[in-house]
Amino acid sequence: MTLWILSVFLAFFLLHYLVEAGLTVLNLRQVAAHGGRVPPGLAGWLAPETARRSQAYTLAKGRFALLRGTVGAVVTLAVLFSGLLPWLDARLGAAGLAGANLFVAYLVALGALLGVVSLPFRLYATFAIETRFGFNRMTWRMWLRDRLKGLCIAAALGLPFLYGVHAFMAHTGAWWWLWLFAFVTAFQLVMVWLYPTLIAPLFNRFTPLPAGEMRERVEALARKAGFRMRGLYLMDASRRSGHSNAYFTGFFRPRIVLFDTLLEKVSVDEALAVLAHEIGHYRARHVHKSLAIHMAGLLLTLYLLSLLLHWPPLFQAFGFAAPSYHAALALLTLGGGAFTFFLAPLAAWYSRRNEYEADAYSVRLLGLPKALKSALIRLNDQNLSNLAPHPWYSRYHYSHPTLLERLAALERLVARHPAERSDLALAPGGAPTP
Ligand SMILES: [Zn+2]
Repeated sequence: MTLWILSVFLAFFLLHYLVEAGLTVLNLRQVAAHGGRVPPGLAGWLAPETARRSQAYTLAKGRFALLRGTVGAVVTLAVLFSGLLPWLDARLGAAGLAGANLFVAYLVALGALLGVVSLPFRLYATFAIETRFGFNRMTWRMWLRDRLKGLCIAAALGLPFLYGVHAFMAHTGAWWWLWLFAFVTAFQLVMVWLYPTLIAPLFNRFTPLPAGEMRERVEALARKAGFRMRGLYLMDASRRSGHSNAYFTGFFRPRIVLFDTLLEKVSVDEALAVLAHEIGHYRARHVHKSLAIHMAGLLLTLYLLSLLLHWPPLFQAFGFAAPSYHAALALLTLGGGAFTFFLAPLAAWYSRRNEYEADAYSVRLLGLPKALKSALIRLNDQNLSNLAPHPWYSRYHYSHPTLLERLAALERLVARHPAERSDLALAPGGAPTP
């Protein structure tokens, strides 16, 4: 039985690794061959220098991802097969820990180990790659302060959460997975409320967007869309990074957060087009549907976990004497991805579909397709997004359509609604060259 379990696991694990590494290699080749040119549809809208920088940035990140993925796979296999997991269990047990304390200590120790292994990669990503391309604005001091704050928050929220998880697993009977599902869902909903009000302000300053044209027009836009918001904030994202963005937090009356880096670079029309896109996600209930899908996935995972806990051969295969809650969670965390990775392209497809819908909503609500077009190009510019990903790679990974796909969809939309045609004069003009 043991051999059979390990063979099935290894086969799935290797398949997962080969699929993702293979796609990354395909993408790197594609970008190395074609990524440095301005795509024909964007001539005049995009500076040749930007295309070259986006190629170099994509190659640097892709090669690094390949290395990181390979090391990650090797470390995961080493942790699973070196006997480390049962050894840790025995050591903590010998130190007198049992029940909830053993459960929490085991998962914290494992989390700390994986955190230490990923540390050099996170440092390299921030201080080598992001710095080389002019995005990183963090000093070492700031980085360390952020990590310390993150650890304190993880301890303050994560430890009680883990004790809660154990209590539900151990003390609610045969239907524990259903109780635990309710607990985890409630915890996540509380976090959605806690994050913008208590946690995010520990890292960034949020100021209400000052009165002026921008504020007036966003409020008018929200009224027109019948969209209730909890507030409109400007975040000092430029302290850490040059990437720009905007986000909404909350499920029913979200607050809107604009990065100061976004407002530095786009016109009011362009910012409105982006916000109308975000409002589109709420009006089309994408946020709620994604939450529902996520909850269904969680419920299924916990149910499967409840079945696996009654299957001792699984635990014996990985060196444990008997099933335990913490061993089950450790195996799920380290090995679960090998059995779910084929869902990634489905999730990405669903997300891309929503992005097209939100773009269409923005155009219908605002009637400013040209502003959306130039906003998308500017965002692409500022984030140096890959202009020419390999189609398999983007099908698998991309939660957003590529810039060219989104622009093509915009053109089709405008062609179907000639009233908006005049605005989407697709010839270059006021082109956002950096
Ligand atoms: Zn979107």
